[in-house]
Amino acid sequence: MKSHVRVLVIGGGVVGVSTLYHLAKKGWTDIALIERAELTAGSTWHAAGLLPLFNMSYTVGQLHKYSVDLYKRLPAETGQDVSFHATGNLRLATCKERMDEYQKYCGTANTIGVPFEVISPARVKELWPLVELGGSADTPAIVGALYHPDDGHIAPADLTMALRKGARSAGAEIYEQTEALSIERAASGEWSVRTSKGDISAEHLVLATGNYARQTGRLLGLNVPAIPVEHQYIVYEESPELKAYRQRGGRELAVLRESDESYYLREERLGWILGPYEKGAPARFADGVPDWFGRNLFPGDLERLVPHVEAAQRRVPALENCGIKDIVNGPISYTPDGSPLIGPAWGLSNVWLNEGHSFGITAAGGSGWQLAEWIVEGEPGIDMLAVDPRRFGAYTGKRYVVTKNEETYRSVFTIHFPDEERPDARPAKTSPVYDKIDAKGAVWGQRYGWERANWFAPPGVERTDRWSFRRSNYFEYVGNEARLMRERAGIIDLTPFTKHEVTGPGAENWLDSLVANKVPAKIGRMALCHALTRRGGIRSEFTITKIADQHYYVVSAGAAERYDSDYLFKTLPADRSVGLRNITNTRGCFVLAGPNSRKILAQLTDTPLDNASFPWLTAQIIEAGLAVDVYALRVNFVGALGWELHFPIEYAHHLFDALFEAGKAHAIGMVGMRAMESLRMEKSYRMWGSDMTPDYTPLEASLDRFVRMKKDSFIGKAALEQQLAAGVPNRFVTLEVHDVTDADPLGNEPLFDQRGRMIGRATSGYYGHCLKKSLAIGYVLAEFASPGTALEILILGERKQATVLRESPYDPDNNDLRA
Ligand SMILES: Cc1cc2nc3c(=O)[nH]c(=O)nc-3n(C[C@H](O)[C@H](O)[C@H](O)COP(=O)(O)OP(=O)(O)OC[C@H]3O[C@@H](n4cnc5c(N)ncnc54)[C@H](O)[C@@H]3O)c2cc1C
Repeated sequence: MKSHVRVLVIGGGVVGVSTLYHLAKKGWTDIALIERAELTAGSTWHAAGLLPLFNMSYTVGQLHKYSVDLYKRLPAETGQDVSFHATGNLRLATCKERMDEYQKYCGTANTIGVPFEVISPARVKELWPLVELGGSADTPAIVGALYHPDDGHIAPADLTMALRKGARSAGAEIYEQTEALSIERAASGEWSVRTSKGDISAEHLVLATGNYARQTGRLLGLNVPAIPVEHQYIVYEESPELKAYRQRGGRELAVLRESDESYYLREERLGWILGPYEKGAPARFADGVPDWFGRNLFPGDLERLVPHVEAAQRRVPALENCGIKDIVNGPISYTPDGSPLIGPAWGLSNVWLNEGHSFGITAAGGSGWQLAEWIVEGEPGIDMLAVDPRRFGAYTGKRYVVTKNEETYRSVFTIHFPDEERPDARPAKTSPVYDKIDAKGAVWGQRYGWERANWFAPPGVERTDRWSFRRSNYFEYVGNEARLMRERAGIIDLTPFTKHEVTGPGAENWLDSLVANKVPAKIGRMALCHALTRRGGIRSEFTITKIADQHYYVVSAGAAERYDSDYLFKTLPADRSVGLRNITNTRGCFVLAGPNSRKILAQLTDTPLDNASFPWLTAQIIEAGLAVDVYALRVNFVGALGWELHFPIEYAHHLFDALFEAGKAHAIGMVGMRAMESLRMEKSYRMWGSDMTPDYTPLEASLDRFVRMKKDSFIGKAALEQQLAAGVPNRFVTLEVHDVTDADPLGNEPLFDQRGRMIGRATSGYYGHCLKKSLAIGYVLAEFASPGTALEILILGERKQATVLRESPYDPDNNDLRA
């Protein structure tokens, strides 16, 4: 065994081997992989080998597409067959909401180039003659289906061996029966790994240890939110009907998924494999995989399987005549949102995770591709925010992860409504005034562990969401909240904002080096600043306020806490000239906005609030009622006169009550996240994570006014210079969508020109309740960005006419904000 390598991959499942393969392909060949047993000994050997392209996530969809394309060409490249059966994949729908889900997915599929067809029940029967189209009480009628002609299934062990061959022939080494036992950081900064076969040091470590992710993480002090859940499938004996069908010349049947009954079914040697996602499947190994569990399986749990078996027999009666050969019940890694953890570990340099894969056979190719890109180039080639390990925070303790993973597992086949809010492990993190907000009728959602009020049900209105891809029960009330904010005054509790304090003599220069805008030099000034990737994409958005001498207050998205904090801490200069503190949990934030907001706040403070004394885009430290040291920032995300009040958390109750008391005469009320979404859409405000991502530069995002190309340097400047020289390819647009009756755009819809050519994608959308327009924002090829351009947008399968509007269709001159 070598004693030193550039990259050491720990874990020889399909994911680890794919990472090794892709690193080698990128020319980094001084690399090795260690595996405690033999390759595929973890979950890989017993996987069913399905390769579903279907995924609602724009990022994961791209990873899966890459995998399927790679697996097709791998045999020719390596000489190793992978048993890829490109049978196609058929997802059945038995209700309108399911068809809506498929149509919503089709928008994403269009934008990433995945081939698909939405087909009729008759076509289902043609493709799958052994299926019952149904129509009785216990077997609902199939109303349509989604067909992927390109995917199918593969032999996971053969795939791993092909990747191994490719990696080895490029020079990578693989050491089996070699377990990582402990890891230390050497004085040189390199990682020193003690293994069962001796020590090996490495510049970079990749953890790809599947079910062992938590114990491997612990070797480095990381609490990795990946805990496996039991997953089983049944292997059937030969099926006489299937055999007869094949003897008649029938081609191998597509992988069949009856989503509404939560199972998949595929052919296996003239028999079947039936895999359900059952209710009640338990999480396992929360404290680590015990020594006795090697290539083992759990005993099958028939009781959990029965409802799915019965449903499958009704849909495919041929199943009734087959005996069961085997039940495979193995651990399948999960994370609280069901997507894997691919990217840098937080708090440690040169440690990378490729963990938490529940569709790891499908994702291995794509995850290895992008992780290798990230390690070698310093950043990934596509937007990876949806799988970045830092999208979770410290709140993902063991019980949270166990509870959420079990919920995610049983929800694999539930309809993924865009407004879905899953109930388990809640409430976890709450604002101090949660109870007071709850008493005002809040209907709660959750993000980054925080409870956030989505909307408020007036007295007598049921406090529930009816999740939908279309306008739903809360539409009217969200509209009322939006109008309240525009016409009177509203409060939004944005306590979850990520907040950092940056102090010291080096603070200004350091912050300035990170962002494209000029960091404010005068006390009381603030600036919207974007940290870019080296390719010029938007990695973070910060509102940076100079709150005192050598003291900056840096606010960013609530869901970006670990992601931003990790970046800031990792880029901190070593000379101790800058102090950095994450103060997210020590300050709360209420947004007070609307035309009456000045009158309300004036009752609580002696600080003059008139325009001359407290202009838009400035900040002051004020007293508000009994609360002291309140940072009042005259900005907001809704485009109204108002202040964000960032207060020491201990004043939350007092300030909340005082604001409502003072606001009584001014019709103050609570406003939820959905109304905020409507209001920000009317102002064309881009949201980090959906409208601002590493896929687009700030020039493409038409954020030119926040980019100071004259600055000496900032990360990403060279890429922007290149883009300016070559011409900015895409431009941000706001669109009015015409003739929408009940399905507004929500993001990830493809945009077409009048000749039907796809020329962009919407990244967000919502109904603008005050403008009474259905709105979308997104990116189009630059030549289509002028106001007045007529485009088309595909919403749930229907082409709608859309017109490019001037930016900020509501109050384009910002008169409200300056009022
Ligand atoms: C019943 C079942 C059916 C499935 N069907 C499908 C499917 O059809 N399609 C699909 O895409 N996915 C499927 N999956 C999921 C798939 O199996 C996993 O997502 C995938 O195998 C994960 O691969 P991996 O490389 O991340 O992990 P693993 O295959 O578990 O590999 C991790 C490796 O790390 C090694 N290791 C751990 N700790 C150490 C250490 N300290 N030192 C050295 N080595 C270490 C382990 O021995 C193991 O070999 C299925 C899973 C189950 C349980």
